[in-house]
Amino acid sequence: MSATFTLNLAYLVGALAFVIGLRRLSSPDTARRGNLLAGFGMGLAILATLVYPTEGAPNNFGWILGGMAVGGILGWLFATRVQMTAMPQLVSIFNGFGGACAVALATVELSHFYTGEASMGGGQLLVVLFTLLIGAVAFTGSLLAYLKLDGKVNDRNVTLPGHSMINIVFLVVILGLLGWVFWQGASGGMLWAMILLVVTLIYGFSFVAPIGGADMPVVISLLNAFTGLSAATAGLIYNNQIMLVGGILVGASGTILTVLMCRAMNRSLLNVIIGGFGGGGAAAKGADGEQVAKEVTSTDAAIQLKYSDSVVVVPGYGLAVAQAQKVCKELDDLLSEEGVEVKYAIHPVAGRMPGHMNVLLAEADVPYPKLIDLDDANGLFSSTDVVIVVGANDVVNPAALDEPASPIYGMPVLEVWEAKNIIVLKRSMSPGYAGIQNQLFFHPKTRMLFGDAKASIQALVQGVKAG
Ligand code: NDP
Repeated sequence: MSATFTLNLAYLVGALAFVIGLRRLSSPDTARRGNLLAGFGMGLAILATLVYPTEGAPNNFGWILGGMAVGGILGWLFATRVQMTAMPQLVSIFNGFGGACAVALATVELSHFYTGEASMGGGQLLVVLFTLLIGAVAFTGSLLAYLKLDGKVNDRNVTLPGHSMINIVFLVVILGLLGWVFWQGASGGMLWAMILLVVTLIYGFSFVAPIGGADMPVVISLLNAFTGLSAATAGLIYNNQIMLVGGILVGASGTILTVLMCRAMNRSLLNVIIGGFGGGGAAAKGADGEQVAKEVTSTDAAIQLKYSDSVVVVPGYGLAVAQAQKVCKELDDLLSEEGVEVKYAIHPVAGRMPGHMNVLLAEADVPYPKLIDLDDANGLFSSTDVVIVVGANDVVNPAALDEPASPIYGMPVLEVWEAKNIIVLKRSMSPGYAGIQNQLFFHPKTRMLFGDAKASIQALVQGVKAG
């Protein structure tokens, strides 16, 4: 077998492993094996590339293995030490590093080009510059997304008046610089390419700065698509099929996710990107000082649950913070034994990353058919006896439907107030991610059960057992 044949065969098997692995990620039952399969495909592709270097150039194993060791150890340390609640931030920063990789590859190729070590046709130069630009936006954009998700940066502190206009100016400057660098070709020199890079890195920050609050899921999936795209164009630079396939798969999945997230927010992508987000909810109706939220004791709530026919759990970010998924399943089992029908209503942007709630509930072995999506849930609430809102806030905020001044106005929400009774589990009256008050907590049907969600559900479990 020739080296080229073996390499291509390894890439083909790797690409198939990516596609089948990705397909298997769509169900919690097969997701773990899907992930392993895709990892195997990647391992095979890396091994084949190391053993059979393309274009006959010998691999520099010292640098490659050194880089892999440093990256692998750091990645492993980060991933094993990260708190489950910080997982969205980790995903965001890993995505940014993917963009940084593309920037590094493109910079190396440009330096070869300008020093005359390598020649490039116009098309090739354009691909390299495109990789540089997309990678740069994905890198600094993801860094800012990480800082925002981690609560280290507040939307309002990084947004300037007329920020959309600033971003349009940035885009025009970048396009102008791109045209200039391209037009100059090899005679242009590295300096202009690096000026283009620096301006694009700043644009990455500026692009994400005004997008915040409830629009964050859209920008996170968009940045994910950008990183995939930059990996795909890097594959074009090196004429490496597996990089191209992997990049296209990430880019396409990220794009589909972006479309789904836009739909979940009922906003167009353009509106998210140039519309900005109110964040602080200054224009939204705040909590009226006169209003008092009614509380319930865990004993009374447990009795109400035990004597219900149907219960819908609405999980949110607080479920992840409290790590209450397993005890939630315990309550579900107890109620189910009592003949209560228990379901889980999943909002597409609940938590801090797409699919966050699905992952948590799968970890607790909640059967997948018990999970219902937003539309089905909204059709079910009017016949539901009790809704338990576990650490969810923005996704059950009626302001999205009835307060045009609210920054989340227009976003589809779980209309839990249609149910006969609502029990909200949270620690205080603090707002959620979008930073806005929630009139649901003052609704006549709502009762608040204050405390950490895990402790509150444990108390409910005891109450159901004793009741
Ligand atoms: P929210 O962030 O709106 O609310 C979470 C609530 O959980 C808070 O009000 C908090 O109240 C409560 N909470 C926190 N810790 C605990 C705890 N230990 N026990 C009990 N309650 C707790 O969450 P939602 O899931 O409703 O909405 C998600 C928001 O995040 C949306 O605005 C979405 O756009 C945004 N977002 C989503 C992303 C995604 O991809 N899914 C990515 C980025 C942002 P208290 O402090 O009083 O306990």
